[in-house]
Amino acid sequence: MKKAFLLEEHLRALRLPSMLEHYGRLAEGDTEKVKYLGDLSALEVDKRQEKRIHTRITTAKFPVLKTLESFDFQVQTSLSKSTMLKYTDGEFIRKRENLIFLGPTGVGKTHLLTALGLSACESGYRVVFTTAAEMCLSLITAQKEGQLKQKSAYYQRCDLLLIDELGYVPFAREASDLLFGVISKRYERASIAITTNLAFTDWTQIFPDAMAASAAIDRLVHHGHVIEMSGESYRLRSRQEGRKRQASKATP
Ligand code: ADP
Ligand code: MG
Repeated sequence: MKKAFLLEEHLRALRLPSMLEHYGRLAEGDTEKVKYLGDLSALEVDKRQEKRIHTRITTAKFPVLKTLESFDFQVQTSLSKSTMLKYTDGEFIRKRENLIFLGPTGVGKTHLLTALGLSACESGYRVVFTTAAEMCLSLITAQKEGQLKQKSAYYQRCDLLLIDELGYVPFAREASDLLFGVISKRYERASIAITTNLAFTDWTQIFPDAMAASAAIDRLVHHGHVIEMSGESYRLRSRQEGRKRQASKATP
């Protein structure tokens, strides 16, 4: 009975209404036939789901794929694994909230941003990954080519927009206005997750004036969670540990 119910769920998901209507009659009470069809349809549902996830990951354009499993929380002690896991259930996306990863370079901000994006793809959300500089450049180029509407739509239609590295390059007025346009259009409509190396008080360094900076902060932080990270650079640490290993090998 339970098997037949699952089969019917699958046939509905696969949009096979005629099979759904007639499988029972054609099985003529043979439970083996129903089981066989159930197994086949389950395979098809799984395969299609796998494909959908793969497509979502490809269209998100992650620079590299990083996962929460490969993140060492013993090294990054300013953040607990349970805090991060809280954001993998997609609740913040459903609530249209934002996330802001704030911390110095090399502490794992991009790693976590990517990992969150990946788990959002797996949960069925449309995700786009970009850097702040890349997004501004592509919007400026689109504006020059009369394609701004289409390009803006690209940054609007995903459920989660990941903007990496806000703060590395200061924005000219034009770029700042375009960036603000994206942030304000998504405000209370869809989530943004960003990484930045700059404390909010220093955002005046990247925006052309204090008004522009505070307008952006306002929209990101209202309904937003700030995840502060600290510590030394993981890259530097790995290099230093490598050197130490080399040195201890060389000592007889
Ligand atoms: P940030 O964006 O803060 O500058 P990244 O996320 O680019 O830092 O991290 C730099 C490198 O170190 C990446 O290859 C990342 O995967 C790795 N890394 C950083 N922190 C950790 C960690 N706690 N566990 C595992 N790998 C880490
Ligand atoms: Mg980074």
